Parts: sequence; C-alpha cells; structure tokens
Amino acid sequence: MVADLVVGRVSKERGPMARYTGPKCRKCRRYGVSLCGKVKCALIKRQQPPGPRSLRRRKISDRGQQLIEKQKVRFAYGLMERQFRDYYDRAVRRPGVTGELLMRSLEERLDNVVFRLGFASTRAQARQLVTHGLVAVNGQKLDVPSAHIKVGAAIGLTDRGKRSEYAKILREEIKSRDCPGWLELDRDALSGRVAGEPGAGDIEAHFNPNAIVEYYSR
Ligand code: ZN
Repeated sequence: MVADLVVGRVSKERGPMARYTGPKCRKCRRYGVSLCGKVKCALIKRQQPPGPRSLRRRKISDRGQQLIEKQKVRFAYGLMERQFRDYYDRAVRRPGVTGELLMRSLEERLDNVVFRLGFASTRAQARQLVTHGLVAVNGQKLDVPSAHIKVGAAIGLTDRGKRSEYAKILREEIKSRDCPGWLELDRDALSGRVAGEPGAGDIEAHFNPNAIVEYYSR
C-alpha cells in the first residue's frame, strides 16, 4: 500500500476520462518549468527539452505560446483536455476575471487541496490518497479527486487513513511542509481547513492564466 501510494499509478479512474500517466518530467522538460511538484524533478538535472536536440531554434507564434501556457497548467493539475476545457467553460460563464476564476476552481479541487495542505508531495500522489479512500471531508470519506471543496470545509484522513502506514510517514514529513494562507493546517492532528478563497498570489508565478483565456476565446 505504501509503495503503491508513493510510486504507483492510479488504476481506476471514475468515468470515461483518461489522463497522462507517463513520465511526468518529460512534460517538465518540454515546458521548461517543474510541473510535477517533485523535489527531485528531472528538470534540475537536464535542462534541454526531451527528444533529439533540434539544430534550429524554432520561433513560437503567439498562438503557440498560448497553447504552451494552457498545457503547462493542464499537465500540472493532471487533467485531460475535456476536463480542463470544462473548467474554462464554467469560468467564462461566471462574472469576474475568467483566468482568476479558472485557477481558483482548479485550486479548490480536492486533490489539489490535499496537495497544498502538504498531505502529499505531488498532486498525483494526492489524487491517489483520495481515490484510495484515505481522505475525509467534514468527517466523511470523499474519494472523488475533482470534488469542489468549499470555504470552511475540514480536510483530514479517514479512520483507515489514520491507521495506515502512510499516516506514520506523513506525520514526520509534514513537519517540514508549509501550506498557503487560504488553508489552515494542524500538523499534529493531520487535519486542515479551507480558511478562504485562494487568491491570484497563490498561483505559481510561472503560470499565465490570461494566455489560457486567449487560447480558448479566439
Ligand atoms: Zn518534473
């Protein structure tokens, strides 16, 4: 179970959606930013994009750059195009700045909240904790990684999660982890709370939400 959570892949996906499960750092190297969330991202070791080195430097069009910005965020959150597009479509229908609304709804996914609280070292691992039934929201098991977590919600481990080998490891590892200001973390209890909405400053600085909006809106 522990090994499975650390290095395994999610075997069951709810619904017909597939997602990218290949070596993550291929994407990190492609886009030149760490998208995997791992401390030992391959980008640190190898800076060139994957594949044979091209002799000519390609010039990237505005459209191409918008696509890159969209893919970076999509891969970072581990979503397939259809799911990601749904987040955009919902954001564009709401009043406000579409890019900010898009990023906020991605941040408020259960798997991301688990990752941001420091319960997992990557979003992929957070997703596995959720699908394996180790995560509870407001005291109830919730095994849907895409679940939208509202302000005020309490996040913790299920009884099975608390008894798991993973909880023992986590108790140590979480001591050195920080969480963003919109979340509250109780390291001793291995529980957290959504204290507010994530703001624009809670998004990775290398993400460009406006370019994603431009990509979809033309
Ligand atoms: Zn990486």
